[in-house]
Amino acid sequence: MEFVRLRNYIDGEWVDDRGAEYVPLYNPSTGEVIGEVPLSSPGTSRAAVNSASRAYESWWRMPTGQRVSYLFNLRKAMEERLEELAFSIAIDQAKHISEARGEVLRVIQIIEAACNIPTLIQGETLEGVAGNITGRIVRQPLGVFAGVAPFNFPALVFGWFVPFAIGVGNTFVFKPSPQSPLFMQKIGDILTQIGLPKGVVNIVNGDHRVPEVWYDHPKIAGVCSVGSSATAKKIAESCGRNGKRAMLLGGAKNYLVVMEDAQMDIFVDNYLNSCYGSAGQRCLAGSIVAAVPEIYDEVVARVVEASKGVVVGDALDPKVYMGPVISAEAQTRIEQFIEVGVKEGAKLVLDGRNPKVPEKNKNGYFVGPTIFTEVSPEMTIANEEIFGPVVSVVRIRDIDEVLQLIRKQRVGNGACIFTQNLYYTEKFISEADVGMVGVNVGICAPHPYLPFGGIKDSLIGTNKVQGKDGIDFFTQNKIATIRFAPPTGRYVTEGSKPVGKTSGEVRSCVAG
Ligand code: NAD
Repeated sequence: MEFVRLRNYIDGEWVDDRGAEYVPLYNPSTGEVIGEVPLSSPGTSRAAVNSASRAYESWWRMPTGQRVSYLFNLRKAMEERLEELAFSIAIDQAKHISEARGEVLRVIQIIEAACNIPTLIQGETLEGVAGNITGRIVRQPLGVFAGVAPFNFPALVFGWFVPFAIGVGNTFVFKPSPQSPLFMQKIGDILTQIGLPKGVVNIVNGDHRVPEVWYDHPKIAGVCSVGSSATAKKIAESCGRNGKRAMLLGGAKNYLVVMEDAQMDIFVDNYLNSCYGSAGQRCLAGSIVAAVPEIYDEVVARVVEASKGVVVGDALDPKVYMGPVISAEAQTRIEQFIEVGVKEGAKLVLDGRNPKVPEKNKNGYFVGPTIFTEVSPEMTIANEEIFGPVVSVVRIRDIDEVLQLIRKQRVGNGACIFTQNLYYTEKFISEADVGMVGVNVGICAPHPYLPFGGIKDSLIGTNKVQGKDGIDFFTQNKIATIRFAPPTGRYVTEGSKPVGKTSGEVRSCVAG
């Protein structure tokens, strides 16, 4: 791959941010510098908002079906360029190429769901709310929305925000993570290819200084972001101070609960995908396995055996199961958590530090599957989001104990249970204090037609992404009261008589 100097996509054009500081972009599989990313200036961030604001004036007035036809074309172009898009993710984020394809395909499905917007944004009417009066609720866009993406899902987060936001008539300013910006460079090209009107979507590369412009910008209607809980809270504070809408997804620490009647083969398959997919850098990654005493030893034996078979290496190698983590800093941070786990007395039964990788990957950022057993709930590794392929196995007495542990967590993204028992299943769905639950699945990510998001520190704000929640976030209600007087100018007032006894004249405070 040729060295790439990233540019911003503003008003339908690729532009350099002259004078911006540039930071290196790495291929985490090899440690090579593959490009450089601008930390764009506030001026560039503002120019993107102004472009989106100009585009909004005609974009929201466009017939809905015509707007949605751009989504159809976006979907088609992404399907045609699937390999190229997946490759871009496998290079800078180093998600294994098979998972990168899966991520792009998921975005295509989300766009398909967003193509249903003409149905999803239909308003409601209450005829005869009073004499000759109809009440109507219309759903409308708000203006310019801004979005911030994390490094680990460069495509998915674009899918969560942009198709729904623009499909209902808003325009958008999007900031990718500086660690995985290549996917959005491809998307910019696709937006030009499909002829999306200039300014409807703008892409600004950079760090936290790019969104700083948005919080008090009069033309920004709301901000959405996906990242750590700390980032979500900082953005929430700034949005709150300035009265902006906010939909902010945060960090996670997810339990996989194994009951005595679990189907072991199903659990082990799901364990591998959940804990080592994306090298454990997933907000729905399982990172704590909680097993009841009857099955604890078998769970440990099976996961250790299966994990030893996980091939670690280059994200582009089809024989590999798990690629590297995102950066040298992330690798060091994960290794430090492993040291802390040992110091606090957990038993390191599989040590993923310094895994064997091919010579060409010797400078990549690899951590292999790592498993601790005899982890107690108060240990650091059982509480902090490690965001790597490190799993803690906890012995639980019964379902009540694990539900208690989940309730105590600050975060509440997802939790999964493996069982055939109806009582355990229903109790878990009802009482697990998280936003998404799974039964006999390792990654409880809802399908694109349904909302996605956690609770507690995993979601700041009220709306989840996707589905009706997403539509609600990107639209506002307007309620119309419509009197249709007959040609004589007289109208019926029946039905608007006051209820109850009064001692004098009553003038209604609503149209009657
Ligand atoms: P991060 O919080 O470091 O950064 C996320 C994005 O926010 C980046 O684009 C970054 O440049 C920007 N940013 C950082 N500080 C900011 C600030 N003060 N103000 C505004 N923007 C700021 O997260 P990351 O390391 O890129 O991603 C990993 C985190 O994302 C994990 O905690 C993971 O759980 C979380 N995540 C959550 C979900 C979910 O659905 N809840 C999904 C994916 C990732």
